Amino acid sequence: MTEIADIEKKDLLYKGKAKEMFTTNDPDIMWVHYMDQVTAFNGKKKVQMQGKGQTNCEISSLIFTDLAKHGIENHFIKQLDTNNQLVKRVKIIPLETVVRNFASGSFEKRYGVKHLMKFEKPVTEFFYKSDELNDPFINDFDAEALKVATEDQMNRIREIALKVNDRLKEIFAEMAVDLVDFKVEFGTTSDGQLILADEISPDSCRLIDRKTKKSLDKDVFRKGLGALVPVYKELLGRLEKVEDVQ
Ligand code: 5GP
Repeated sequence: MTEIADIEKKDLLYKGKAKEMFTTNDPDIMWVHYMDQVTAFNGKKKVQMQGKGQTNCEISSLIFTDLAKHGIENHFIKQLDTNNQLVKRVKIIPLETVVRNFASGSFEKRYGVKHLMKFEKPVTEFFYKSDELNDPFINDFDAEALKVATEDQMNRIREIALKVNDRLKEIFAEMAVDLVDFKVEFGTTSDGQLILADEISPDSCRLIDRKTKKSLDKDVFRKGLGALVPVYKELLGRLEKVEDVQ
């Protein structure tokens, strides 16, 4: 592996809704740039926002570092500066894995249940990543039939996602925040290992302040509840105060 100090950014490989991925001079390492842009509703609502990339880059770097310390292997290598990270190159499995502790969002809409109904145990769901199809709900059998993931991979993904949920709940509890739900993605490394990838940030989680009951996540943007970046900064400030997350 190339020394981290010798890594150079090369070509833009992929531009998503919130991040750009660049190749580097090491085939197993990617350069991620967090953009100052926020989107919702499959990109239909899109706004440039200064400082948004930085808060997400810092929040995700802290969380992935903590998860690795807790035995959850992931793609994160290093935060380079405010908006840039190095990560292990993986082949992303085109699934959004969602874990829910309380009913919200698409679950609430699909089943018509009370907002924030608390689940006795976490609910795991999968969505097939496809902008054209609007990320449809998918189950293990469909995923296997479509050759999106094997049965073993689906079981492993569920197991890791639940471990992530356990640790995230602990972290957010120390910040006086309830973790309603979150989305994670997984990928396979060049040697075939399945690891956690993408990002964990207020773009991909629903978080509620225990005292004020206010959203501290992208729902602020989705629902037009006010300025987003100050909310993300507030969350980052609280995360930085959690003693064992450093
Ligand atoms: P829902 O299925 O209720 O819309 O979303 C469940 C959770 O997954 C929420 O925390 C939401 O923010 C996250 N999520 C769902 N789809 C996406 C997506 O395309 N991008 C990101 N960043 N998060 C998502």
